[in-house]
Amino acid sequence: MSPRILSVASVTSLALFLTGCGSAQNGTPTAAPNAQHADHGADSEKAECAAAFAKLSDEDRPLVEAQGYCVVTSEPLGSMGPPLKLIVNEQPVFVCCKGCEKKAKSNPDKTLAKVEELKAKVKSESSN
Ligand SMILES: [Zn+2]
Repeated sequence: MSPRILSVASVTSLALFLTGCGSAQNGTPTAAPNAQHADHGADSEKAECAAAFAKLSDEDRPLVEAQGYCVVTSEPLGSMGPPLKLIVNEQPVFVCCKGCEKKAKSNPDKTLAKVEELKAKVKSESSN
């Protein structure tokens, strides 16, 4: 019942997961993802997001980056840990946490409209 055992277990399964999805970044499994971002300054929130993004699969990461924000809370994806992937009307949609999953699924049309809105917002931000 120790929380420490739980977290060790989830780190182990993440490590297995990451090892299984490509060989490009296998060289430094213990390197802190935040370290490379330190020179960007005091933007620790972004560094946290980057760490969370690093846990996504190669397939999901670009989708999360394109969406950028939780469809329910509009919080940056990754700010609460790895984003959750949902399939809404056969489309991948990401939310920030388990609590948002129900809300996103309860109104698929609204959710998908919001995804398009968020993608447009991310695009306009990145072109500035
Ligand atoms: Zn959430």
